[in-house]
Amino acid sequence: MSESCCQPSKAPRISSNCPLSGHWGQAVDWLTVAALTSGPVPPRQNFWLCRDSDCDVVYFGEEGYLLRIADLRMVPGFKHGGGERLICYCFNYRRRDIEAEIRTKGHASNIVRRITGEVQAGNCACQVRNPSGRCCLGEFKKAEAEIRREVQL
Ligand SMILES: [Zn+2]
Repeated sequence: MSESCCQPSKAPRISSNCPLSGHWGQAVDWLTVAALTSGPVPPRQNFWLCRDSDCDVVYFGEEGYLLRIADLRMVPGFKHGGGERLICYCFNYRRRDIEAEIRTKGHASNIVRRITGEVQAGNCACQVRNPSGRCCLGEFKKAEAEIRREVQL
């Protein structure tokens, strides 16, 4: 199975750290930021994502533009704990959905198969749905491994 469904990101490879937490910033496309802000579209500039779950900042731009959790249309899954957090933003799978499948079947391959099928059909829109602008499958595998450790499978 492919690790990524979407076009490679056009975001720049230069790095920057979150001005609030100092956490390493993941480059993200302006379009992703523009799609997820609840306010007006920000001016075009290089943007990064702060994945620190204790930090209120989600996106920061090279021109000092800051977007906090409250400035977005939804709370990114990596910014809070708990089963309600989204893992797959295109087809709305939450952590609890993965956990439920693992608890009943011992694996989450039905959900993975469903997501992969949609991806192959060209139905994913990670660039404008996922706050990282990237495919969720990597994130999914991480969550799955974490849950399997928790339920001791
Ligand atoms: Zn931060």
